[in-house]
Amino acid sequence: MNEIHVAGVRYHLADFSWISALTKLSDHQHTACFSASGEECVAENTFWVTARRFGELDRDIVTLTDITPLERERVQLLYRATTDSLTGVSNRFKLAEYISAEHTRFRRYKMPMSLIMFDIDHFKNINDTHGHTVGDLVLAELAALVQHAIRDTDTLGRWGGEEFMILTPVTTLVDALEFAERLREDIESTSFPVAGQLTCSFGVAEAADGESLESLFNRVDKALYKAKNNGRNRVETA
Ligand code: GH3
Ligand code: MG
Ligand code: MG
Repeated sequence: MNEIHVAGVRYHLADFSWISALTKLSDHQHTACFSASGEECVAENTFWVTARRFGELDRDIVTLTDITPLERERVQLLYRATTDSLTGVSNRFKLAEYISAEHTRFRRYKMPMSLIMFDIDHFKNINDTHGHTVGDLVLAELAALVQHAIRDTDTLGRWGGEEFMILTPVTTLVDALEFAERLREDIESTSFPVAGQLTCSFGVAEAADGESLESLFNRVDKALYKAKNNGRNRVETA
């Protein structure tokens, strides 16, 4: 351990410049953590730290309070609040937050953004035939397959039971349709554990100028509904 990260800035532990930096910050507590050189801090070795300079003594008094257990718990709670426990992808709450932030950017900078929503076809049959545990396994495997296929900048989330949504920033309708079609083919040609082959239906919508987020959600939902109505295992837009 030879680094200390104070209020988001990295310092070499031995050069003590972090102490003078701290004394220049206001008197409030700051979070600091220790890490090996170049490594991100994890929820370990985390402290509340303050430093006060006593000018007349030419001394700094540094106080460190170990908050590692609190920090571990905070990280765990954050994970639980934002992640779907079955599949490990973002939950609806977190994905909606990402989508809302991206939509704000879209309104400001006019970069395209699209949403892809998909739902397993006749998933009820899988549960009825093989049991809920196999159904759960299929959901986890499907999420892993799609997670692997998306770009780093895309976000996959579980929207509801067997329904997923992908946020594709900086992506036009044409590109999102092409991507959804590729995903559809990938899923169709995959053999899932116990359940074997399955298909998904896809709805795709690109954010339109002046459109509310609510309307975009409605359109992608409608597109998925259309894909179901038009025979399933297909990609539609609305
Ligand atoms: P469709 O092609 O119209 O989408 O038909 P479907 O059978 O997939 O749709 P339906 O809405 O009739 O059934 C969805 C099923 O998904 C019913 C529900 O029990 C199941 N399901 C939802 N969440 C979970 C889950 O977490 N685990 C498992 N195993 N099943 C789930
Ligand atoms: Mg379904
Ligand atoms: Mg459904």
